[in-house]
Amino acid sequence: MPELPEVEVVRQGLQEILKEQPVLEKVELMRPDLREPIPAKKIRTLVGEKVLSVDRRAKYLLLWTARGGMLSHLGMTGTWRVAVPGDERLHDHIYLHFSGGLRLAYRDPRRFGYFDFIADPLTHPKLKELGPEPLLATFTGQSLWESLRGKEVALKVALMDQKVVVGVGNIYASEALFAAGIKPSLAAKSLSKERAEVLVGEIKKILTRSIEQGGSSISDFAQASGESGYFQITFRVYGREDEDCLQCGKRIRAKVLGGRNTFWCPHCQK
Ligand SMILES: [Zn+2]
Repeated sequence: MPELPEVEVVRQGLQEILKEQPVLEKVELMRPDLREPIPAKKIRTLVGEKVLSVDRRAKYLLLWTARGGMLSHLGMTGTWRVAVPGDERLHDHIYLHFSGGLRLAYRDPRRFGYFDFIADPLTHPKLKELGPEPLLATFTGQSLWESLRGKEVALKVALMDQKVVVGVGNIYASEALFAAGIKPSLAAKSLSKERAEVLVGEIKKILTRSIEQGGSSISDFAQASGESGYFQITFRVYGREDEDCLQCGKRIRAKVLGGRNTFWCPHCQK
């Protein structure tokens, strides 16, 4: 499943392709729905408008015009690509035609993706309750510490709660906790302000590194064949059950927390 760094790299790719602000000329839907129905009429009110920018909120992409935007979530297997004439593929569900002969295709074999019209990010039902963006300066040790107050759940489970912070998935939560030396099962409310500061720093670092590596690995976005999945970041604990800790040599442990497999080093993480 694409995580925040993957979605951010897709955003950067789309922004580059759409930087001349082409006019949306036609919206071609090959089916009426993805995970939910696609509001074709509303989206077609954007035809004739220039695409001004491509933004991201959590794992949602927003293609903005002066009259509203298109909201896209990639689900498990969604991809956007530039589709030159003749490049139509199985599972292409949406074609966006732009001035200058540019055509973008949305392909999604498993159809867990989502495509909607959006007028205002503050009121859209998918966005209005989302927590802070991890890479913005407003996400700090202090703000995390405050949002964890009174929370009995394990810290790792809290980190994956989209109301606490968006876009920290299972892998990134495990890796950031390892880097910060904090055990995943610690009660969220017991995290000190000082350790919250360290943890926030590690979350920002690991997401930034992943975006940078991903950006270089799919720089030829226009030709991207559309594989999704995690970038090839080096995992230090994730998926390494019973292997040696890279830091202390002791055995990496695994257990299920909040329904998700969790990896940690009992020696390095307290
Ligand atoms: Zn260790």
